[in-house]
Amino acid sequence: MPRKLRVSVDLDICVGNAMCETYAPKVFVLNDDRQSTVADSNGDTFENIMEAAQDCPVSAITVIDDETGEKLFP
Ligand code: SF4
Repeated sequence: MPRKLRVSVDLDICVGNAMCETYAPKVFVLNDDRQSTVADSNGDTFENIMEAAQDCPVSAITVIDDETGEKLFP
């Protein structure tokens, strides 16, 4: 069974470059203020979500295992 994730974006530091939306468009959606919001924490593969988190230029994305509470990123 795929891992269940809890994804969040720190809006205080998101610079809205949409990188995360490119990697996982069902998970990250830019709002009207051009900031990334999480539409569905489990809307893409684990690999795509982790890649989006790792490539965020300001490390605004946090990924947590929703079942164990383990912090997967950062
Ligand atoms: S990649 Fe990071 S800075 Fe860019 S929109 Fe996504 S959360 Fe914001």
